[in-house]
Amino acid sequence: MRKRIYYWTASEHINKPVIADTVLNTGVKINILKAKVEPQEAFLILELIGSKETIEKALDYLSKFGEVEEISKVIKRDLEKCVHCGCCLTQCPIDAIYMDEEYNVVFKEDECVGCKNCMKACPFKAIEIIE
Ligand code: SF4
Ligand code: SF4
Repeated sequence: MRKRIYYWTASEHINKPVIADTVLNTGVKINILKAKVEPQEAFLILELIGSKETIEKALDYLSKFGEVEEISKVIKRDLEKCVHCGCCLTQCPIDAIYMDEEYNVVFKEDECVGCKNCMKACPFKAIEIIE
């Protein structure tokens, strides 16, 4: 299974190899979808891949060094409002939106991490984030 999370670590843990240790200690696989590191904290969007037990172990381990929030948001686009203008496309941090060969804007909804960038960028208010 896969689980996506937001993860914040405090400054005292920024220089520790927390992600590598999580992989080694629990056997989980981790995709880093986004990382923003500042002197006082680091913010990451992570995708954890493994069995249910492995992912639970990884979440416990990560929680020792920071704050975990599971991502359960999904995007919903109103196709009657969407005009395929592409304004949302460049705002997605993980390239979950693309334009197909017929110039239709397509969302890869199963990859979305619920960051809301596309929703804020849409001039036609065609996107909703459902918690
Ligand atoms: S910004 Fe809004 S209207 Fe434009 S393609 Fe994206 S969802 Fe559609
Ligand atoms: S909310 Fe929109 S911009 Fe953010 S990850 Fe999902 S599709 Fe991409």
